[in-house]
Formats: sequence, structure tokens, C-alpha cells
Amino acid sequence: MTIIQGDGFEVKIIRSRRRKSLSLQISHEGATIRMPHTLALREAEAFVDKKSRWIKQKLAQATPPLERQYSIGGTHAYLGENYPLVHIPHAGKAALSLADNQLQLHSKTPPTPEAIKRLLINWYRQQADNHITLRTQHFADIMALQPTKISTRTYKARWGSCNARGEVQFNWQLIQAPIEVIDYVIIHELSHLKHLNHSADFWQQVDQYYPNYKTARLWFKQYGAQLLL
Ligand SMILES: [Zn+2]
Repeated sequence: MTIIQGDGFEVKIIRSRRRKSLSLQISHEGATIRMPHTLALREAEAFVDKKSRWIKQKLAQATPPLERQYSIGGTHAYLGENYPLVHIPHAGKAALSLADNQLQLHSKTPPTPEAIKRLLINWYRQQADNHITLRTQHFADIMALQPTKISTRTYKARWGSCNARGEVQFNWQLIQAPIEVIDYVIIHELSHLKHLNHSADFWQQVDQYYPNYKTARLWFKQYGAQLLL
């Protein structure tokens, strides 16, 4: 593969017979120039030279998506706080617990990233089940709106749902968010027990129990994607 060395960055060159002109693409994976098979490399070099500042700027903007480190020493969020993952040698079955402001992983040897991810997901799901069920019951009593069922599950692109049977479901990945942000989702879904839509009446119902709902919605816009494992 041909690479052009820019001023502090690299540009991958892909030549093709079908291509009629030179084009530049920039993504979080880097800069790539696609060019006709016959075009001289120095043409591409001159182009990179001329556009150097612009390419640097675009590469900086295309920052890589947040990648989680499933390793000892990595940090993970729980109820809005970040905790470092520490390994504690332990003869029995591998288990995760929160103690002394640490996520403590008890196991014989430090587990693989896959095993850490599995343990973390299991732990999050347990915490979400406990916390969200209790909290939903708490607000259901205050709002005098009783769901027929409260459960948590995996969603890829939503935080909760409420159906016509009166069942409310929540994304367990919410357990990483601050308590007040989770409360917003709970109050939002409970409000659907009264209004199964997003009408003005619905938002008025939300506002009555969660006046700061606009801030919570903004929080999800900014940080929501970071909750997805
Ligand atoms: Zn809704």
C-alpha cells in the first residue's frame, strides 16, 4: 500500500483504473486519496501539500469514537460516577463488586477483555434491575400510575418503552448515567401510562414530576451514545 507522509499525518493512496479524478476522504480512520491508476504520485503529494492545514484540521475533528478499555485499570461508570477496575486475587468463581470506590474484580488471574466485558455487563444488569425497579415503584406511587410490569432489557437505540398493556421496560445500560437522568427516563415512561404519545399533555405530565426534563434530554443528546456497550 502506498502512503504519503504529510506534516504530522499519513494519507493512504488507493489507485483505481475506473477512477477519473483524484478525491480525498477523511474519517476517524484517517485520510485516504483515491486516484486514477495513471496519475503520477507527485500529483497526489502536491495536493496533500497544498491542503495540509485543512487535512490536519479535518482529521482532528474526526476524533475516534469512545473506545472502552475492558482491562484492569480501565474506568467504568455507575450511577454517573467513574470507578477504576481493579483486580483482587481470589480463589473462587470470578465476580465483580463495588467497594472502596473501586470496581473490584475478584478472580484467580486477571481475566481476558472478553471475560471482563461479560462480568461487567452481568453486574450492570443486576444493578439496573434492582435500582430501576425500586425507583420506578417509588415514582409510580408518587404519580399514582401503576405499571403492570417493570423490566430491563437491551436496547440499541432507546432508553425505555411503555406499551398499551401498561408494561414499562428500561435499557439496563442506563445504570451508568447519573441518578437524576435515570429518574427522567422513569418518569417519562410512567407518564406514557396516562398518555401513550408525545402530546403537549404528555409533556405537561412529565413536567409536573420532573420540571428539569429539558436538561435531562440534553444530557442524552450529549452523552447518551457513551452508555452503549
Ligand atoms: Zn416517550
